[in-house]
Amino acid sequence: MAPAPAPSDRAPWRPSRLLITRAARGFAHGRAIAARAAAQGVPVVELPGDRLTLDLPDDPRRAYAAAKATLAVTVAPPSKRRLQPIAPSADWRVDLAEGCPAHCSYCYLAGSLAGPPITRVYANLEEILAALPDHLGRGTVTSRQRARASEGTTFEASCYTDPLALEPLTGSLSAAIAWFGRWEAAAQLRFTTKFADVAALLALDHGGRTRMRASINPAAFARFEGGTAPVAARLAGLRRMADAGYPVGLTIAPIIAAPGWQDAYGALIDDAAAALAGARGLDLTVELITHRYTTTSRAVLERWYPGSSLDMSGQDRATKRTRFGGEKQVYDEATMRALRGFFATRIAAALPAARLLYWT
Ligand code: SF4
Repeated sequence: MAPAPAPSDRAPWRPSRLLITRAARGFAHGRAIAARAAAQGVPVVELPGDRLTLDLPDDPRRAYAAAKATLAVTVAPPSKRRLQPIAPSADWRVDLAEGCPAHCSYCYLAGSLAGPPITRVYANLEEILAALPDHLGRGTVTSRQRARASEGTTFEASCYTDPLALEPLTGSLSAAIAWFGRWEAAAQLRFTTKFADVAALLALDHGGRTRMRASINPAAFARFEGGTAPVAARLAGLRRMADAGYPVGLTIAPIIAAPGWQDAYGALIDDAAAALAGARGLDLTVELITHRYTTTSRAVLERWYPGSSLDMSGQDRATKRTRFGGEKQVYDEATMRALRGFFATRIAAALPAARLLYWT
């Protein structure tokens, strides 16, 4: 039996302004995004050149709010179109956009994107996708690992953005899904999202070559995820995608060992199992990512979300080297062991058909 409908999703994001560069206006996809925004009453600013002029207020709070409310349509230069490896999620990272309009107090973008948190979406989508076939079979994750070989060469679209959050304005995710649907190759597009409006994706000819994952956390931690869709709506969206024949997944992230985490995550796993119960031909994966931060990301997040109760005090933490030679704070060994054991047991019991892809 299909699950009950989810509580209402939030309204689609509407920026307070859209900036479009001169070069972006040279692409039909860029012009379509601007036209869609204009039709929704969003003021469109046609920049005379390709430099983004932001004119943000001096006050940091107001500057943050103004940046988060700005969508820029730009052209991804060749350096941004060069694909990067992105273990353990996928072989390659492919960016359709950079930035996200939501306000999560742990947002991983704080450590990876510099500058004001505006959202940039790329007009030259066809050029971005055209780089993909050269990478077929050349990654180090699903291209190499026997356990994940059935996924083909994988391309992750959620590293620097939440593509579903932008979809009502951009159409980029739909276009990429349809592109993979036409690509007769052992390849897969992957995206994960804290949003829920999947209506535009359901009827696409996806060919089973896109996996959507719902990025979820207990409702009790919703205070850390401002501006995202309710978790129940994300799970209902995932169920609709499964019913439309998409491979699906759960990204439980970031796992936060706050007081009461056992009950909160136990209920979350049960809710996910209920949302997916009875789905025909379900192809379900699970990815488990614990909360971590760097000195840089903590400084940015404390500036963006000064009142957040998210614990980044260093308690129960251990220092770990990053792939790029820096340091990050992860949970200490005892906390990690408790979390990992809990998730392995509860997922095996509630979602026995799920494939666990990685723990980090
Ligand atoms: S939804 Fe994801 S990308 Fe967007 S603010 Fe939250 S953590 Fe960051």
